[in-house]
Amino acid sequence: MFDSLQDRLQSAFKGLRGKGKLSDADIDAVAREIRVALLDADVAVPVVREFISNVKERARGAEVSQALNPAQQVIKIVNDELVRILGGETRRIRFAKNPPTVIMLAGLQGAGKTTLAGKLGRWLKAQGHSPMLVAADLQRPNAVTQLKVVGEQAGVTVFAPEAGNVGAVQTTSGTQSVGDPVQVARDAITEAKRTLHDVVVIDTAGRLAIDADLMKQARDIRDATQPDEVLFVIDAMIGQDAVGTAEAFLEGVDFTGVVLSKLDGDARGGAALSVRSVTGRPIMFASTGEKLDEFDVFHPDRMASRILDMGDVMTLIEQAEKVMDAEQAAAAAEKVAGGSFTLADFLQQMEALSKMGSMTKMLGMLPGMGQFKDQLANFDEKDIDKIKAIIRSMTPAERDNPKIIDGSRRARIARGSGTQVSDVNQLVTRFFEAAKMMQRMAKGGGMPGMPGMGG
Ligand code: GDP
Repeated sequence: MFDSLQDRLQSAFKGLRGKGKLSDADIDAVAREIRVALLDADVAVPVVREFISNVKERARGAEVSQALNPAQQVIKIVNDELVRILGGETRRIRFAKNPPTVIMLAGLQGAGKTTLAGKLGRWLKAQGHSPMLVAADLQRPNAVTQLKVVGEQAGVTVFAPEAGNVGAVQTTSGTQSVGDPVQVARDAITEAKRTLHDVVVIDTAGRLAIDADLMKQARDIRDATQPDEVLFVIDAMIGQDAVGTAEAFLEGVDFTGVVLSKLDGDARGGAALSVRSVTGRPIMFASTGEKLDEFDVFHPDRMASRILDMGDVMTLIEQAEKVMDAEQAAAAAEKVAGGSFTLADFLQQMEALSKMGSMTKMLGMLPGMGQFKDQLANFDEKDIDKIKAIIRSMTPAERDNPKIIDGSRRARIARGSGTQVSDVNQLVTRFFEAAKMMQRMAKGGGMPGMPGMGG
């Protein structure tokens, strides 16, 4: 996602390299390139218009800064604007004072609602909640079964009508007679109260295209259950259609938040960048794969730095925190900030991270990794073992201070790890680059000098 936008923005900024002061013509030129990049990424026209006008205005008024050169100032402005259109602050779920909190999911068929229900269930459970998933999608033959499957994977309770017998609901307390999805949803809440589930997630039916019946059904469920949150799930890959779909759901059902799904796809991602501005509703979660753990709270600032290839060190550290203890993680973060992050720390983080699944995805979050995109795409998870072997073949002194790794040490390390000297060279070089960028990132409060742009 955003690969081509990322490339285009980088090349727009390149034109500013080495400029002492930006003339109006420079600003117009870079603004034009950014505009085309956004439009090509399928960002909605009115959103682009406002974006560009803000960038121009702020770039013209930018004060001469000690800390940032003109190119970096423009990048900072673009970063700020991206954060703004993505919603600014991170918006979290609002839990009801009197449980259960009711979360209703709405969206087109195939948007990823059922999958999301499982993801939310898993996530809520990990946070100490006791969620219940409700199958109120009685339209699609397989939807009920599918929800049961994801519920089981997530280890959470599913409230569902019996297969082939819509109109009856199976609960822990036996089979109750009910009418329609609205009734299923209503009964689920009663059941959640009785069984002390504190969050109810209602999966609703979608259609392939917007239609009046779909909207009415969703509205009826909403009116009957008075949800604390209505989450509109949108497939980030649908491009230009995103805006119309979002507007239709806003009018037809209304929603309190947006979930972007399929952000892992290689589409242009305009939906992600437009939906907040067009609907005025915050993006609350992002889904990045079919598996239940491929899902996260949406942070506008982190997404903006990912688009600008400033990496996403915060997410990386947070992911590591899930498997490292908090103390270790805090120590790592401190070392990054202080510039004393070593290969030994790197190895420790990598070992922690490799317990968490795709290393390629993790590496993609490192600043400056955008330029290694092709390598990352071909990245073999086995390379991790190689990297680990190389670091393990180093002495503690070498891990702490890679600067001492000269030619003969490199040859020894390569022999010891069963790799080539070129592998060792590559690792050391990349480590220095990453460490430098991570340090700038941590110090600069999220605004590093861009790689290769001086600073
Ligand atoms: P629903 O009709 O809205 O309930 O959509 P589903 O949850 O059934 O999802 C439709 C398809 O998209 C399924 O094949 C899912 O596995 C897939 N899917 C859902 N979320 C994601 C995601 O974030 N990334 C990818 N790649 N696929 C997803």
